[in-house]
Amino acid sequence: MNILVTGGAGFIGSHLTLRLLKEGHAVTVWDNLHTGRLKNLTAHRDFDKFQFVEADVREARDYQGDMIINLACPASPVHYQADPVFTWETSVFGVHHLAHLAEKIGAVLLHASTSEVYGDPDVHPQSESYWGNVNTIGIRSCYDEGKRAAETLLHDFRTFKNTDTRLFRIFNTYGPQMLPDDGRVVSNFCVQAARGQELTIFGDGKQTRSFCYVEDLVDGIWRLANLPREKVPPVVNLGNPGEFTMLELAELVFKLMGSEPKLKFLPLPQDDPKRRKPNIELAKEVLGWEPVISLQEGLKPTLEYFKNV
Ligand code: UDP
Repeated sequence: MNILVTGGAGFIGSHLTLRLLKEGHAVTVWDNLHTGRLKNLTAHRDFDKFQFVEADVREARDYQGDMIINLACPASPVHYQADPVFTWETSVFGVHHLAHLAEKIGAVLLHASTSEVYGDPDVHPQSESYWGNVNTIGIRSCYDEGKRAAETLLHDFRTFKNTDTRLFRIFNTYGPQMLPDDGRVVSNFCVQAARGQELTIFGDGKQTRSFCYVEDLVDGIWRLANLPREKVPPVVNLGNPGEFTMLELAELVFKLMGSEPKLKFLPLPQDDPKRRKPNIELAKEVLGWEPVISLQEGLKPTLEYFKNV
């Protein structure tokens, strides 16, 4: 197949693109290098069927191929809050352009949505049928509402324009190639532990997240891409249902590093969700997918990577 991966120079995009190349597909990456990095694509350049184009999805452009996988958007709170208008435009205008492109060329369009569409959830764990609890004018809104609008648009393209759009909601994902200045809890803890610094706990550290290793996530995305069209659900959660408090995560990092626990408590950011855990029953049923890499296993290569960045 000829596949376009937008945001392919980013953390998840670069892992996904490499997997597609290894399976023999021709892959074009569009990335504006806002949070993506060319060095994430080093191994990719060994493949003849790989092409990189510096491009911003906020502007419409042409492509000919069979499938588009959209991962273009800053995704960590630090990065998506740095320029909220840019984030919103990327989510909404970018997806609008890609939806019209997919319709025009008859391509399948997969789109990375997010667990952030659930906001600070008052239902736990979160299944696809839960509508969410989202602030429209908070510091997370540019991302949360941008992604919600994108879901609506793509669902309507599927329903009213007969375009084969496929939505997946990514829960917290980690692994090598994350940006060291991402500000995310896993990258912060790994960088801090590698440097012998205190680990920064926001709030009391009792909030929870569920962490999925990137290779597991890529496998889920690829299964959705290969599903017969009639079996594609309107939207599917992809994440690891193991649930950890930030204190438990810190403890695991210290254990793997073999170092003495050193913590520094900082204020909890505004609108920080208290709990997050995916219900992945739908993914299990329709994709035959569930994560196989435990947090402890996945943290090992991640810590190694952060020791060397
Ligand atoms: N967090 C923390 N220390 C850090 C960075 C984040 O305790 O150095 C907390 C943050 O407040 C949140 C959780 O870790 O409750 C996950 O944050 P992250 O930014 O990784 O992603 P989110 O799931 O909030 O989008």
